[in-house]
Amino acid sequence: MKQNNICFDTLKKECATRGLDPASIPSFKHILDTEALTARQRKHAEFIGAVTYFFDKFIASLPGIPVLATATDKHGYVLHMIGDSGIKEMVAKLGIRNGVQMTKEYNGINSACLALDYQQPVGIVGSQHYHHYLYHAACYSIPIRNRTHSEEIVGTLSFMTAAGFAHPLFLSLLMTMKESIERELQLMKQNETLRLLNELIMDTTTSGMIISDKEGNIINVNEAAEQMMKQDKQSLLSKTAADCPFVGDYLERALSEGLPSTDIERTFKSTSERETTYLLDALPIFDQTEKLVGAFAQLRDITQRKETEQMLLNTEKLAAVGQMAASAAHEIRNPLTTIRGFIQLLQPSFSDQGHFNLVLEEIDRINLIISEFLILSKPQATCFGNQNLIQILHDTIALSQPQASMGNVQIVKHFYDSSDLFIHGDGNQLKQVFINLFKNGMDAMPDGGTLSVDVYANLHGEAVAVVSDKGAGMTDEQLGQLGNPFYTTKKDGTGLGFMIIQRILKQHGGSIDVQSRKGEGTTITLRFPIKQEETIEQT
Ligand code: ADP
Ligand code: MG
Repeated sequence: MKQNNICFDTLKKECATRGLDPASIPSFKHILDTEALTARQRKHAEFIGAVTYFFDKFIASLPGIPVLATATDKHGYVLHMIGDSGIKEMVAKLGIRNGVQMTKEYNGINSACLALDYQQPVGIVGSQHYHHYLYHAACYSIPIRNRTHSEEIVGTLSFMTAAGFAHPLFLSLLMTMKESIERELQLMKQNETLRLLNELIMDTTTSGMIISDKEGNIINVNEAAEQMMKQDKQSLLSKTAADCPFVGDYLERALSEGLPSTDIERTFKSTSERETTYLLDALPIFDQTEKLVGAFAQLRDITQRKETEQMLLNTEKLAAVGQMAASAAHEIRNPLTTIRGFIQLLQPSFSDQGHFNLVLEEIDRINLIISEFLILSKPQATCFGNQNLIQILHDTIALSQPQASMGNVQIVKHFYDSSDLFIHGDGNQLKQVFINLFKNGMDAMPDGGTLSVDVYANLHGEAVAVVSDKGAGMTDEQLGQLGNPFYTTKKDGTGLGFMIIQRILKQHGGSIDVQSRKGEGTTITLRFPIKQEETIEQT
């Protein structure tokens, strides 16, 4: 093996100039204490591990030749020694042990320092050494590099044998070992990076992930999967792919047929009555040679998305029904106008004028209901103005009356004082508030009952409307949920009513207060600022 630029005569002269005595045993200036040594060994654990692994094999291939291998870090500190115990004892007598630093200043010509200095393999045999005590030794060293980190030198690998066994081939062997060690270190680094990346992906995703080997043993699951399957990692790891909740069938298919299953939507009933919908994928994993090595499954909880989709569908359906009802209302109102006209013409033929008035009043009531219905069913731009709260309540009660009668509900009005109570607002929106409140009240009394509606002005300049029922009432928990979008306990409910009420109240500068007791009933109090007399415009 060629050794560039190393001239042992020159090196020896330098040693002499430094005042080193070739006949003495050199001392070590820098020795690591146990703690510092352990820290450095830990830092180079992968390097030491690889050296041990390859050197064991190397020694086994050299029966009868005593060798001692030494690993140093890039500063020449000895980190690890393995091999022939005879040589080990001999070097121990010379003070060479783990933790000492090899330097050319104190130790003269030594292979580890030269390998670091010249950054190349170095062999020193017998009298090429400076110190006489090393004349019967042959030492070989090579620098080891970190291939994943700009080829930086990590340390050296050296070995020592008796001068009689010296052979240039030892340097070639060292080169081969260096190659293997560096590749091993590189692979370890890559594996570690992959492991970290893998863990990062597994731990940060909200999808549940399950990985099995090709025999179908679960080998990894992430936290999201633990939560979805309501089992901890340990118990999931003891399962087979086929027994894995939700994804078992698909994992098994991936393993037995090598086929992927993707975008499978399945709904499961959990212990509570709530249903959960998952989107599942299960994929076989192949290595570079296309051999099946395992399977991977992921599941995403799409329950919320499904619920929202369902609600939107419902809302769309309601809008469609609303539109149909509106056109039906038109069809009713037109002939009604004709009927009213003809009835008026027939007035003289009514023997009882009371009957005539009753017919006309009833026709007018139908007309009112239909007109209100038409206004409400069409989306309207908000239009703020003076609104007589009492009139609005009269109108909306009239509108809700048919439903109340059908449900055996009596609407009882307590309207105090005057017939006018003006607030500033949008008439249609206010009507929507009361229609929703009345409907909720009636829904809470499926067997009928009394719905009372009070309206009055309080001493704080507020118009107060109180709607109360003696129906099902709500628990504190249900009260807390009231107003959350899509919160409903009804089979055909939208869970939007209360949210809309709150929004409208806010736009009107009003407030809403709900008192409810499970099994007793609910009282809802709305407060609006009263519009002062002098500011009331003509409406
Ligand atoms: P929906 O009426 O479509 O269910 P709401 O937002 O109007 O939606 O009401 C949400 C829920 O609040 C209802 O499903 C019901 O459980 C409860 N709720 C509302 N008003 C009352 C009431 N007066 N009495 C009892 N429960 C009520
Ligand atoms: Mg409602």
